[in-house]
Amino acid sequence: MSDVLIYVLIAVAVLVLGLAGWFGLVAPRRRPPTESAPSEAPAPEAPIAEAPVEAEAPAVERPAPPEGRLARLRARLASSQSTLGRGLLTVLSRDRLDESTWEEIEEALLTADVGVAPTQELVNNLRTRLRVEGVAHPDLARTTLREELIGLLDPSMDRSLGVDGIDGQPGVVLVVGVNGTGKTTTVARIARVLVAEDKTVLLGAADTFRAAAVEQLSTWGERVGVETVRGPEGGDPASVGFDAVKRAIDEGVDTVLVDTAGRLHTKAGLMDELGKVKRVIEKQAPITEVLLVIDATTGQNGLTQARVFAEVVDVTGLVLTKLDGTAKGGIVIQVQRELGVPVKLVGLGEGADDLAPFEAEVFVDALLGD
Ligand code: GDP
Repeated sequence: MSDVLIYVLIAVAVLVLGLAGWFGLVAPRRRPPTESAPSEAPAPEAPIAEAPVEAEAPAVERPAPPEGRLARLRARLASSQSTLGRGLLTVLSRDRLDESTWEEIEEALLTADVGVAPTQELVNNLRTRLRVEGVAHPDLARTTLREELIGLLDPSMDRSLGVDGIDGQPGVVLVVGVNGTGKTTTVARIARVLVAEDKTVLLGAADTFRAAAVEQLSTWGERVGVETVRGPEGGDPASVGFDAVKRAIDEGVDTVLVDTAGRLHTKAGLMDELGKVKRVIEKQAPITEVLLVIDATTGQNGLTQARVFAEVVDVTGLVLTKLDGTAKGGIVIQVQRELGVPVKLVGLGEGADDLAPFEAEVFVDALLGD
């Protein structure tokens, strides 16, 4: 009896397995992809140069040269600034320029952050010139306003970047400013400009308190084949600056760009930190440019911050970012006047090449529209 039961069970089992196989329920066991079959002939060794890893490495970008960028990007300025330029021209083209007209002009300039002293100067000059020359034609008003605005921006100022070192040493550019102004972005964009000019570049991520900023900087750098010297998180910013400049000297790099921390906690703290970075770097090579980055959208606040930085370090050039996002482009005039330092670069967007060398004439033309 039990023998019969066993035969029946075996028959049922065979039937079930057969059906399962038929319907594909029991899949044949696959060899894991990493397992290699010992019986297979060994694959010929691929030459290292043809390793797939190399083939997958991202291509290094070739950034666009910076010449003429302001002219190309002027539409971004014009769209936000035209309120000022066109407004002034409309008012100045009136038949009669009475007291209330001049007040209107003054107000428009102050609203655009031109600043009290430069506004006064501009209005006085315009009054004198237009009284003498008359406003018979809108073209005359335009030419006069154009000349006066360009005069306020002092086109004779040297706006070249100090990126070249002396006696075979690297150029050392220190980039300072409050966090969020666009400092890291600016460092990366300058690196792209230099790469486009066939210079070798090294970045120093001395903003060691913001891991994200360090990451951001090295990622931007990698895109154009530029390396970043970084320290431990929260480490001494001065030692990162030191290491970066030392390596630039050892490797014969043309320019080292150092991104600094911008925590404006106390003036004394800032002074200590930036002062130390500067001193430590200068043990190796002179700093050839100190760029202060200012967010144009922050208006008077940005100017107050700029004054603090200018007291702490010898700023040699200004970078005004986010000019694409504000109608208060007059800050260019005010900040340059106030600090006595030229605006060298302006940011006109978030793109990798949206940083343009500043040119007074092109800027004013964009302001006034065609
Ligand atoms: P940091 O904290 O000073 O280093 O500032 P970041 O470089 O991280 O920039 C802060 C933000 O400002 C980022 O989202 C940038 O894309 C943005 N930014 C920088 N420059 C410009 C500019 O010229 N125009 C615009 N619209 N955004 C900018």
